[in-house]
Amino acid sequence: MSLISIIVPCYNEEENVIPFYEELIKNKEYFDKKDVDLELIYVDDGSKDKTVAKVKELAAKDKSVHLITFSRNFGKESAMYAGLKECTGDYAAIMDVDLQDPPSLLPKMYELVEEGYDSVATRRVTRKGEPPIRSFFARCFYRLMKKISQTEIMDGARDYRLMSRKMVDAVLELTEYNRFSKGIFGWVGFETKWLEFENVERTRGETKWNFWKLFLYSIDGITAFSTAPLMFASVLGVLFCIFAFIMLIFVVVRKLLFGDPVDGWTSTVCIIIFVSGVQFFCTGILGQYFAKMYMEVKKRPIYIIKEKI
Ligand code: UDP
Ligand code: MG
Repeated sequence: MSLISIIVPCYNEEENVIPFYEELIKNKEYFDKKDVDLELIYVDDGSKDKTVAKVKELAAKDKSVHLITFSRNFGKESAMYAGLKECTGDYAAIMDVDLQDPPSLLPKMYELVEEGYDSVATRRVTRKGEPPIRSFFARCFYRLMKKISQTEIMDGARDYRLMSRKMVDAVLELTEYNRFSKGIFGWVGFETKWLEFENVERTRGETKWNFWKLFLYSIDGITAFSTAPLMFASVLGVLFCIFAFIMLIFVVVRKLLFGDPVDGWTSTVCIIIFVSGVQFFCTGILGQYFAKMYMEVKKRPIYIIKEKI
């Protein structure tokens, strides 16, 4: 008999805990026939509402429901990592509790894994119901990542995927503090089958990501999986040196031929402002990598567990 661990990160999701459970156990019959057990691990990421109480209610009724609670909000990435670390299944799946990752796909995913894939991942092919500006920037992000990173990061990829134990163990070996799972899953490799589905809108509760949080998350993604911005800064540096050299010759020759008229205040100011802008920009890029390095070097734990059921 094999076991699938289903990891469900939750942050202030009291309305979703039970509907998710009810939707998920609709697959129970299918998995019973296949002689597969399901264990459900809710990871409470420091919720301030009744999420924990709701999960405890479920756990009292159903022995396959487990709960890990954090001492505070550590973020979804930490919750996923904790779930993967604590789970014991031969397979593990990560799913959002808001039913945006349809549990009805699970049997299909399992079939594919049985066929020999190490991982079955999902991506949404539409972004229906999402603010257009958010979709636009998301698309730009994925297009940029495709260009600047060697790691494959699919447009519209969800964190929803079923993985074999081999792949889970590989993911757990990446103990970095700045976690960007979509990149980590691609980085570890293994044979992955992609399933596509239409976007499902959240019906209860609200999204935990605003534009600014997503922007910072995208910076995490870029710095974690590409050093191209550093290369870009270096190339800019070289280009400016070449430009400066040409200007130097031009200015010296002009002085020798035409003397030294006190002119060019406007151009001087423009050059100073522009070049210092570029310098600050490049220092900023360096700073981003430096900040990430600083957090990594501290080796702080990725999460702290308060309670385990
Ligand atoms: N989540 C979490 N910690 C956080 C934010 C979100 O565990 O700090 C969980 C949340 O409860 C949900 C999943 O991550 O199960 C996805 O969050 P959300 O639905 O808000 O993201 P969206 O679907 O809008 O991208
Ligand atoms: Mg959601």
